[in-house]
Amino acid sequence: MTRFPRIIFDVDNVLADSMSVFCQKASEMLGFKVDKQNIRNHKVIGSIPLTSRTIFRLQSEVWADWKRLAPLEGDLQNKMEAFHMIGFTIYIATAIPLRLTSYVKQWLKKAQIPYDKFFHCSQEYSKSKIDAEALVDDAPEEVQSFIRSGRQGFLYSQPWNFTAKIPGAIRVRNIDHVLKFYGVEKAKGGAYRDIRWLGENRT
Ligand SMILES: [Mg+2]
Repeated sequence: MTRFPRIIFDVDNVLADSMSVFCQKASEMLGFKVDKQNIRNHKVIGSIPLTSRTIFRLQSEVWADWKRLAPLEGDLQNKMEAFHMIGFTIYIATAIPLRLTSYVKQWLKKAQIPYDKFFHCSQEYSKSKIDAEALVDDAPEEVQSFIRSGRQGFLYSQPWNFTAKIPGAIRVRNIDHVLKFYGVEKAKGGAYRDIRWLGENRT
């Protein structure tokens, strides 16, 4: 039986629901309601009538206000602990501005998300440069470049990546889908268990 992989989780809009807070701030500024469905790409630019500079400023405010940020999924801590206990190596990677990474770390700590390593990524150091076997991300280009190097990419479903078609990518709606791909299922009562010994063909 193969070992469980080193798996990278993106933070914004995979673990942390930052777009919801961003939309609240953008709505206040614009005077009309903006919600996630209006966002057409994960960088937001071009989706709403705000300049890229204002968008960057609001994104920084979202993380400066990290205590308000909710986990994107209920029970996130337990789900991430399931990965960890079963034997995955968890890497967290974010491409937000370097000065904001301390907020991200504080948020991860508060949300009690276990991880083995934290990576700050940039244009020069993309997630595909990380030595790992799998990536979970909402940004289609990150997933695509990761897959190009022959590894497993999971596209975390969000309104802005709904039309993205990436050959080889697995679209997931939640973290349980990722676990299921590796043969880990949630049993009644909420515990996660490795069911790979039950055979490859079991669905
Ligand atoms: Mg993201």
